[in-house]
Amino acid sequence: MTASASVPAPATVLVFLDPAHENGRIADSSRPQLMATDQGATRGDGVFESLLAVGGTPRKLQAHLSRLAGSARALELEIPAEDAWRRAIGTAISEFRSRSGGDADGTDELVVKLLATRGVEGAATPTCWVQASPPPAAGRQQRESGIDVLLLDRGYDSEVGERAPWLLLGAKTLSYAVNMAALRYAHHQGADDVIFTSADGRVLEGPTSTVLLAHLETSDDGAGGVRTVRRLITPQLDSGILPGTSQGALFTAAKAAGWELGYGPLVPADLYDADAVWLISSIRLLAPVNHIDGKEIGTPELRRQLTAELNALYATIE
Ligand code: PLP
Repeated sequence: MTASASVPAPATVLVFLDPAHENGRIADSSRPQLMATDQGATRGDGVFESLLAVGGTPRKLQAHLSRLAGSARALELEIPAEDAWRRAIGTAISEFRSRSGGDADGTDELVVKLLATRGVEGAATPTCWVQASPPPAAGRQQRESGIDVLLLDRGYDSEVGERAPWLLLGAKTLSYAVNMAALRYAHHQGADDVIFTSADGRVLEGPTSTVLLAHLETSDDGAGGVRTVRRLITPQLDSGILPGTSQGALFTAAKAAGWELGYGPLVPADLYDADAVWLISSIRLLAPVNHIDGKEIGTPELRRQLTAELNALYATIE
């Protein structure tokens, strides 16, 4: 029996943002804490972020706080200032670590969620809390083994985000039922994950991740040797997708390491032509894609090499 099978997972820690508690108010996650009339529950009306803390330090915290503020602006939702979130995050992480003895599962990773809803029906204050919990084991395994993916039509064209801002496509809202349904559909077909395409045939994003692909081009360097250009490409950000904080940070690190960067438009043929494809996100990190709709992407060796290289770059991100 493994240690993780014998030791119960530590309970989720909840910390509510509350003006009466400067560093947030710790609440019991085994007891009801939300009003049944909270519009986060009754309408999915709210925003959230999921980020990874490693060794007790949240990664890319400023990028997540900025995106949370941007999502809230898109919903015209007034949420507390960054400082209040930072203090509540600090409380949640230290409380979780003190309850679990520091390193819950041997990875020292911790999922931190930030949530803000429109609050109880009839009241004008948002409900905001931070949640700290252990990372799902499946994600860690998929980083290693890779994933099989289905292309699924999202039904919107790639320009709808500009034309219909009320669809909130670039915001991270609590209305994730469609994304979860797409994942269940993929699981029923024996796949692990999904890449959405638009009605006009563009590659968009995963239900909880950004699409990333690598192209290697070798050419004569003019001096009898070979020059390899390495290019990382992601769908263009204005196609109605969520701007990924992981993709953004990885692009910055990759550029400094000599990679060329590109932004779509991408079509499915670009995925099949790629040397490697990943779904990247804050908790699972880089999940190499083995197959899309049953077709292999690159080769196992290339996927392994490029994933190791990008993982090393990702590890330099704060
Ligand atoms: N796209 C969607 C729809 C997501 O839900 C997420 C993350 O949950 C991402 C992309 C990746 O974003 P990040 O890298 O900031 O986690």
